[in-house]
Amino acid sequence: MSSGLRVVIDKPACCGYGICAEICPEIYKLDENGIVYVDDPLVPEGMEERAREGADACPQSALAIKAA
Ligand code: SF4
Repeated sequence: MSSGLRVVIDKPACCGYGICAEICPEIYKLDENGIVYVDDPLVPEGMEERAREGADACPQSALAIKAA
C-alpha cells in the first residue's frame, strides 16, 4: 500500500553525503557515485515519518516529499 506520498529528487543538487540513506535506507539508495536514487518514488505506508526525516536531513535540500 502506498502512503499517498512520493519522493521527488533534485539529482543535480545531491552531493552524495549519504545522510538520507543512513536515516532511511529502505527508500534512499546511493549509486556507485554516491548519488541518491529510489527504486520506487512512492512512499510505502508506515514509512512516511522516516521518508520525511531523511528528506529533511539532506544538507542540499535535494529531497522533497510530495503528494503522489
Ligand atoms: S542527503 Fe542529500 S546530498 Fe546526501 S545523498 Fe541524500 S540526497 Fe544526496
